[in-house]
Amino acid sequence: MNLIFLGPPGAGKGTVAAELKKTSGLDHLSTGDMLREEMKNETELGKIAKEYIEGGKLVPDDLIIDMVKNRLENAEAGIMFDGFPRTVAQAEALDKIAQIDAVINLTTTIDVIIERIGGRRICRNCGKVYNVSWYHKDTCEDCGGELYTRADDTEETIRTRYDEYLKKTAPLIDYYRVKGIVHDIDANGDIQTKVDAISDIIKG
Ligand code: AMP
Repeated sequence: MNLIFLGPPGAGKGTVAAELKKTSGLDHLSTGDMLREEMKNETELGKIAKEYIEGGKLVPDDLIIDMVKNRLENAEAGIMFDGFPRTVAQAEALDKIAQIDAVINLTTTIDVIIERIGGRRICRNCGKVYNVSWYHKDTCEDCGGELYTRADDTEETIRTRYDEYLKKTAPLIDYYRVKGIVHDIDANGDIQTKVDAISDIIKG
């Protein structure tokens, strides 16, 4: 079983995938996390990606597709793709290397996105995602790591990212809809409701 999470930035793709990883046996592949790791390690890819990411723009397709292909070489379990594909070219490349069984389309609005991303804090150590609206400490409750705000989580960059989503990623909803594999899920519901609904889809 391979599944894709679609939805604008801040829809909660990563949070839902991290939760489902605990119970589904599926692996979680986040191209955003992979790129942030490359940036942290100051690799060639990381240096190139940094400018795009901090400007809210998508990283060029060929770089992303190569990175995902490398990652999939060692894949054993089914995969939850989070943040990939983000363009039709990426979707076509993915079609050649993996069968996609379901697409979870998380739906929300720009106002909710700005509120969510604006308050997002991430653990520097384990990557757990928090929001200042419900978590008021500076350190991670799981590992004690320091919480930080992503450099691309400013309101200006969020709007650019949302425009990129509308222009380049939203067309993928129809790309997969015609294949009959899209499931729309309200991203504004509580996390457990979303996890339960997606677990049912995974179980078939
Ligand atoms: P995310 O963590 O998924 O919100 O991704 C953060 C940023 O990484 C995006 O705004 C893009 O600049 C870049 N990025 C992540 N995944 C992709 C992708 N599949 N294609 C192009 N750029 C990506």
